[in-house]
Amino acid sequence: MKPIQLVDLHTQYLKIKEEIDKAVIDVIESTAFINGPEVKAFASDLESYLGVKHVIPCANGTDALQIALMALDVQPGDEILTPSFTYIATAEVIALLQLKPVFVEVDKDTFTIDIADAKNKVTSKTKAIIPVHLYGQCAQMDEVMAFAKENNLRVIEDTAQAIGSSFHSNDGTTKMAGCIGDIGTTSFFPSKNLGCYGDGGAIMTNDDALAQKLRMMANHGQRVRYYHDEIGCNSRLDSIQAAVLRIKLRHLNEYTHARQEVAAHYDSAFADVEAITTPYRAPYSNHGFHQYTMKLKGVDRDGLLTYLQEHGIPANIYYPVPVHLQKGYAQYGMKEGDMPRTEDLTRQVISLPIHTELSEEQLNHITRHIKSFING
Ligand SMILES: *Cc1c(COP(=O)(O)O)cnc(C)c1O
Repeated sequence: MKPIQLVDLHTQYLKIKEEIDKAVIDVIESTAFINGPEVKAFASDLESYLGVKHVIPCANGTDALQIALMALDVQPGDEILTPSFTYIATAEVIALLQLKPVFVEVDKDTFTIDIADAKNKVTSKTKAIIPVHLYGQCAQMDEVMAFAKENNLRVIEDTAQAIGSSFHSNDGTTKMAGCIGDIGTTSFFPSKNLGCYGDGGAIMTNDDALAQKLRMMANHGQRVRYYHDEIGCNSRLDSIQAAVLRIKLRHLNEYTHARQEVAAHYDSAFADVEAITTPYRAPYSNHGFHQYTMKLKGVDRDGLLTYLQEHGIPANIYYPVPVHLQKGYAQYGMKEGDMPRTEDLTRQVISLPIHTELSEEQLNHITRHIKSFING
């Protein structure tokens, strides 16, 4: 059996090697490394794929979030609602811009923002909400959008883990993740569902005025070269990454399907294991399974992690410490016990290897060892 990896990018690469190698060499030959035709072509391909008016490529998913906030009409001290159960980037950019992250609980089944709790936390200073489509499944965007409308908030969807997922609204329409709120952001970090061979990110919007502002903010605050109407930043997707992404975008649905097959395999293997709660499937979203994250009940999680490690199975905890209890975020005055549901989840969850190249043999190896640890 091939060694099991959390993500197997090499096997995936070998299947598209010819196309990729040619595309990368073509960029090198063209020397159009920055803002070359590949970048525009990729943005346009992604716009078509997502059915969104504007895709603005940038350097990574964290920048995408930061630029999204910079394009909104917000002042230092304004409050931004976001889950505490997320990757640090979501809250980090809020703090960096001198805005105040206000942490909201997540639903215990979907792991996405709980609007009932957001209602407790909104104030006259709240300007925006950043739902995170965690692990590949959409937040309840009908609730997010209704809540935002009621409170006059802007919505930025952190879609770093859910590119290609779709949301089925109560009104009967289906929209792609990241294209529902005012702005969507995503990451092309290599291990994401649509990953490049380095860093990359993008911002999505259907709003023409916002698109213009976002492009300007990502480009030193200039609309006309050397005239800087705002203080912006420098965040670009490079042409080699765009060329890789154009090829991988054509395979994204197939990659998502492969992840869903792995998830189905795990689901059925653990269906009769009482100590395991397999991932809940929200009726309003499909699941891209960026992570396969299950909840454990009455299991020694550290013991399980060590046992799996010993048997060549790299499992992981996303995330062991919620943002509101991170040292760097102590200034926001939160303490243990303030967000019980989020804190419980950080103690219960475990994520299993999931990627596009797992074999039946590897999956059986993983599930057999998990069951044998739990059943003793
Ligand atoms: C990966 C990720 C990001 C950041 O993306 P980078 O490209 O690594 O900057 C932001 N939010 C979430 C939820 C992520 O998973």
